[in-house]
Amino acid sequence: MARVHNFNAGPAVLPVEVLQQVQADLVEMPGGGMSIMEMSHRSQTYEAVHEQTIALIRELLGLSDAYKVLFLQGGASLQFSMVPLNLLREGQTADYLLTGGWGQKAIKEAKKVGKVHLAASTESENFARVAAQEEIQLTPDAAYVHFTSNETIQGVQWMAEPETNGVPLVVDASSDILSRPLDAGKYGLIYAGAQKNLGPSGVTVVIVREDLLGDTPANLPTMLDYKTHVKTNSLYNTPNTFGIYIIGLVCRWIQQRGGLEGIGRLNEQKARALYDVIDESTYYRGHAQPSSRSRMNVTFRLPSEELEKQFLREATANEMIGLAGHRDVGGLRASLYNALPLESARALADFMREFARRNG
Ligand code: PMP
Repeated sequence: MARVHNFNAGPAVLPVEVLQQVQADLVEMPGGGMSIMEMSHRSQTYEAVHEQTIALIRELLGLSDAYKVLFLQGGASLQFSMVPLNLLREGQTADYLLTGGWGQKAIKEAKKVGKVHLAASTESENFARVAAQEEIQLTPDAAYVHFTSNETIQGVQWMAEPETNGVPLVVDASSDILSRPLDAGKYGLIYAGAQKNLGPSGVTVVIVREDLLGDTPANLPTMLDYKTHVKTNSLYNTPNTFGIYIIGLVCRWIQQRGGLEGIGRLNEQKARALYDVIDESTYYRGHAQPSSRSRMNVTFRLPSEELEKQFLREATANEMIGLAGHRDVGGLRASLYNALPLESARALADFMREFARRNG
């Protein structure tokens, strides 16, 4: 079977060049005498891979020395708890901007830890857009402001960072990290599960401004303390060595495509191919308002659920996989992460036009 057009929301498509490199190195990592999965996480060969991956992330994002790059486990979901456990102190409030399903989960966990203020929400509009700056009601001395740069389920994305008047900005960038240029210096903490734009599942990248990590609360478990992982360079316990190795290969692949500027232009072209189809017809209804449209997850509906099912069946028959919307919202969703080729987006756009012609 040939490789299909993979629109999965995550785990998702990886660059074929990266998969081929993994295959070439799998049985014997050059210089290692064994596969990367079989060697000690404290070996010289692995250490070089670990450092290289960190260096590439730093380079792509232009991180200053104030930031540390960590590789953790437990998914972005564990970060919903670790962020407040580390950054929200007794008597402080954390501001959250709510624009979709993942933000809801982040807020639920933060509330278990401390005081949360909902500084903006678009829930009453079915999360069809992000919040406008004028709607955001910040707590003046908040511990941090948290937002989700791309809501994977609803397909809405922030086009610019919210302004926080000096309060540290924390972002769940799980579904758009390294997909476009980012002004990293604006952030206190960036976290993302790897399985959409960076690599396989099982690694979470956390980028944190070290000065935000004050005294560790006495009862904070060692593994949940960012400082544990900063001090040990993410080698306190055994990290996902195989995943970190692949993230390094993906970062190099992005670099070869012109870094974040280059990959950002490509991602924009892919998204435009699909939004053009949505805009030129009344057959498809996009979920997101145009100004908040995600370049990563294009969410849309057809005239009926029956037609949506037929669309999915025919798309699958045409080797376009992973187009069902999230189970919470239904409809259709095309995920267009970094590694999805432009030809796949164009193939889907052509299929959408042809399907509407036949069934309109
Ligand atoms: N945040 C966002 C924006 C996501 O898209 C996802 C995964 N779909 C998560 C958090 C949860 O990630 P994980 O499964 O790695 O815990």
